[in-house]
Amino acid sequence: MKLPNIESARSDDRVVIVGGGQAGAECAVTLRMLGFAGPITILAEESTHPYSRPPLSKGYLLGDVASADLHIRPPATYDDQRVDVRLETRVTGIDRATQTVRTEGPDGVHDVSYDWLVLATGGRARLLPDATVHAAPNVHTLRRLADIDEMRSQFTPGARLVVLGGGYVGLEVAAVARKSGLDVTVIEAAPRVLARVTVPVVSEFYERVHKQHGVDIRTSSSVDSVEVGADGRAMAVKLTDGVTLSADVVVVGIGMEANDELAHEAGLAVDGGVVVDEFCRTTDLRILAIGDCTKHPCAQNGGLRRVESVPNALEQAKVAAATLTGDARPHDAVPWFWSDQYDVKLQAVGLCPSHDEIVVRGCIDEGRSFSLFYLKDGTVRAANVVSNPRDFMFAKKMVATQVRVDPARLSDPAVPLKELLAVSGRERK
Ligand SMILES: Cc1cc2nc3c(=O)[nH]c(=O)nc-3n(C[C@H](O)[C@H](O)[C@H](O)COP(=O)(O)OP(=O)(O)OC[C@H]3O[C@@H](n4cnc5c(N)ncnc54)[C@H](O)[C@@H]3O)c2cc1C
Repeated sequence: MKLPNIESARSDDRVVIVGGGQAGAECAVTLRMLGFAGPITILAEESTHPYSRPPLSKGYLLGDVASADLHIRPPATYDDQRVDVRLETRVTGIDRATQTVRTEGPDGVHDVSYDWLVLATGGRARLLPDATVHAAPNVHTLRRLADIDEMRSQFTPGARLVVLGGGYVGLEVAAVARKSGLDVTVIEAAPRVLARVTVPVVSEFYERVHKQHGVDIRTSSSVDSVEVGADGRAMAVKLTDGVTLSADVVVVGIGMEANDELAHEAGLAVDGGVVVDEFCRTTDLRILAIGDCTKHPCAQNGGLRRVESVPNALEQAKVAAATLTGDARPHDAVPWFWSDQYDVKLQAVGLCPSHDEIVVRGCIDEGRSFSLFYLKDGTVRAANVVSNPRDFMFAKKMVATQVRVDPARLSDPAVPLKELLAVSGRERK
């Protein structure tokens, strides 16, 4: 689609991408795939070529995945694709009038000119209100490879780990820690784990699985303070109910904050993330933004939302590349993500939609595979699928097309989802 009144990138225009994560890397490579021939530069503050974060709290922490296997693409790909990746190079400011960004890197301070700027700055781990606690060498957050490298050596059998936050990243760490023989307690302020991403029955299922693996899960429980000893190490976590938990390692998994300061300081619209339209354009049409750092229109429920997931980062990267190369298409994909804990895989599509009915397929109390479908006016709006990738494949299609289903047949695992999709397709014709 050609957008009205918008020029796209000319073949010799300079595209500068800030942030060498999932979204930045994908945008650069997609631009080349779409035939863009001009210079592409990725300015990346980390010291590693773009890598995948999901294994950090799973196989990499466990020691099953090597750091070289985390690369999103082999580093040589960027040279092959004529993408100039500048590592350890942090962008400190954007001058929209001169179309330059200021960088600080190994060879000093520079100004880099752009014709098109793509912000792919992701986010950072949210810190405890008393941020001084984070100076302790045994208090960790989870965002970067370096975070896990520091944490991993302390994951020794018998060590007492307290995880603050029962979201999916905190629970993944708890699962790895139990596999590694640590004594694990999870503190969650909400009345249930995973409260931000799913409904109570799924939270209860995960609490049960973790308890079966020996994790002490404490919900409706808040942290008063982390006690730090004279040696500078955290010794204990004090809860507001007066309980004190001794700790050898503390992992703070209380969410993410978007890296939107550059955009804010440059006068772009920011609202807990860089505000973009469905074509990933910010309020300056020469600047686009993609991935975890964005607040974008939600095609499903309306309004603006921030989605922290690899599929969203990849999709927005492709949408931005299409916008730049003059064949724009809107970002309207239904959001989805996955989480691996022990041998249980949660896959969720269509996050927290409004619904008037939940259909359970399979038995939540027995075994480890079941699905939940969220219906509104008889149509499928979202699904949580536990350990059934095949069903998830069809669930994604059902949500994307908002199929109308018979709840009784949907709840019966003997009726293939493929059949329900086909019936609905025939009815639409
Ligand atoms: C531990 C963990 C587990 C996860 N597990 C899953 C999962 O199972 N499934 C799933 O779908 N998603 C998962 N995610 C989320 C997923 O990794 C993110 O949604 C995805 O990485 C977002 O990509 P991004 O490029 O927007 O941001 P990022 O990957 O965060 O990359 C942004 C990059 O920009 C750099 N940067 C920031 N500011 C600047 C600057 N001023 N100058 C230069 N560089 C800068 C940052 O250092 C970073 O390297 C997980 C995330 C974490 C942390």
